Amino acid sequence: MSLPHLRDLPVPALPGAFAAAGVRGAAIVARDVALAMHQRHALRWEELPLGREARGRLEARFRFGPLLGEPAVAVAADGTRKYVFPALDGAAVEVVLIRNLKAVTLCLSSQAGCALGCTFCATAALGLRRNLTPGEILESLARAGKDAGVRVSDVIFMGQGEPLHNYDAVMDACTNLNHHHGPSLSKRRISVSTAGLTPRIRRYAAERRPWRLYLSLHSAVEETREQLMPIARVHPLPDLLDAMREYQQLCEVPWVTLQYVAIPGVNMDDRHVDALRERLAGLRAILDVIPWNDIGGPYRAPTWAEVRDFRNRLMGLGCPVKTRYSAGKQDGMGCGQLTAGLLALAPKGGHIDAPWGIYTD
Ligand code: SF4
Repeated sequence: MSLPHLRDLPVPALPGAFAAAGVRGAAIVARDVALAMHQRHALRWEELPLGREARGRLEARFRFGPLLGEPAVAVAADGTRKYVFPALDGAAVEVVLIRNLKAVTLCLSSQAGCALGCTFCATAALGLRRNLTPGEILESLARAGKDAGVRVSDVIFMGQGEPLHNYDAVMDACTNLNHHHGPSLSKRRISVSTAGLTPRIRRYAAERRPWRLYLSLHSAVEETREQLMPIARVHPLPDLLDAMREYQQLCEVPWVTLQYVAIPGVNMDDRHVDALRERLAGLRAILDVIPWNDIGGPYRAPTWAEVRDFRNRLMGLGCPVKTRYSAGKQDGMGCGQLTAGLLALAPKGGHIDAPWGIYTD
């Protein structure tokens, strides 16, 4: 069995792991190693601040080295950059870096491919290849930021994969992203977007996770939601929204963000607006409207006039409504468009037709 990789470990666990390996001054060495890995982007043993004895003890227990190969990079007309890194086994780790005046946001992937099969999303066609490790997630952030010459200020798990499907790895990655010896991002600038795995939302709430949790709602009409997101057949809407209410209460979140991909002829008519009014009672929510990005079918992208009209009707619900421009969408980098196409890495094996086939909660 291969040794654990140092970058996969939560930063708070490093001092204990180093002490168990017999490293003298384990707490200080662990701090220095974490800072080198996560803030100075060290990729190899020789780049870690270790004496010969400490390095020998750690090399006997841990691996260290690059987890990702050279990325394929594309730059969109609006400056958005997409990176597709090949992992050691050839799986693709895809991230999108978006700059605006206030922030540099990295859209992170949690899995290579995805098992959930949402019908509006190009990633669904890949199926699930595998979960990413915390180290792969963190290295994709470090290397994309370094390549672009920027410090990433915000991350959102909204690239390939359902983050709560890879719960432990994503939670460990978030712990390190937030840690002052890690990339040191503010907890309010770390967001996890879920398609709605109800038991895992309850677990997230019970564990009082401090990062923002977004729900991809997309419809408050059950049959429309099932059409868009097959996982809705496993986790019906009333129980899912109850879980979000619990999350709001337990984690003391003033507003929860509900993402809503707007697709004409599917979920933008008055019936869907009325369903939102009825279903969202008791939930202080911000509606985040994302005009559907064309992936070559099976739907039609809305015009801006349609989006404006929809937003105006949503504002009658009395909750804040945002409209999100998907950066890089003209160049295949927007929400729902990620397919690792730059590397042409088709997933090998592991394709799961039943979207909930490996989901056991
Ligand atoms: S929208 Fe998200 S959860 Fe749904 S298939 Fe795409 S990546 Fe997976």
